Amino acid sequence: MRLRLVRHATLALEYAGHRLIVDPMLDDAGARPAIPNSHNPRNNPLVPLPMEREQAVEGVEAVLVTHTHSDHWDRTAAQVLPNDIPLLGQPEDENKFRAQGFTRVQPVTRHVLGNEIEIVRTGGQHGRGEIARAMAPVSGFVLRATGEPTLYIAGDTLGCSEVEHALSTYQPSVIVVNAGAAQFLAGGPITMTSDDVITVCRAAPKAHVIAVHMEAINHCLLTRSDLAFQLEAARVAEQVTIPEDGEWVDAKR
Ligand SMILES: [Zn+2]
Repeated sequence: MRLRLVRHATLALEYAGHRLIVDPMLDDAGARPAIPNSHNPRNNPLVPLPMEREQAVEGVEAVLVTHTHSDHWDRTAAQVLPNDIPLLGQPEDENKFRAQGFTRVQPVTRHVLGNEIEIVRTGGQHGRGEIARAMAPVSGFVLRATGEPTLYIAGDTLGCSEVEHALSTYQPSVIVVNAGAAQFLAGGPITMTSDDVITVCRAAPKAHVIAVHMEAINHCLLTRSDLAFQLEAARVAEQVTIPEDGEWVDAKR
């Protein structure tokens, strides 16, 4: 397997000979207003796509969407992806995808794609307490196939029992975490902080952790360099890749 960070949480993924896209956010820079009630109010996305939009979706055989907040599934993605592409997401989003005209929507609890990739839905907590309830539901996915490292895409979640459960149950070799420590004016972070990423590293010391979901949406306050500094201080930096937009990452096995 290998994957390319397109931007934010959008990943181009090559896995078991198939090409997938995860959480496509394909709007032009500044196409949407700032997240309401947030710091640093600037239009989103903050940065452009690092490639032509056509290139981001070229050859894609299926789409995985962890949840439908606009930084994971936007209007442009719904427009440019073909209506008959297999679209896998959490069961709660099925009707939304169908209303947008997608005909091959696959609500995932456990699913086999192309006869060979097993995809399992995992849970998460997109904040704590009341905020988490308002932001729910969210999902992550575990991908497994013969001859490929087990990949865990955690989605928008803090460190929580669902993440611990996924790590211990599936023992992933590669873990994508959504960092950025996104937050509103009130309440704590709703995506992983540097401490959360460090906790994942320590819970899965042999795994290759790939940290994304930074510097593209205005309420994500943790930058790549802040995270790198904290990972270095915690002595876990070696197992983590923090890709730039457009950068390919090969799984370390
Ligand atoms: Zn997000």
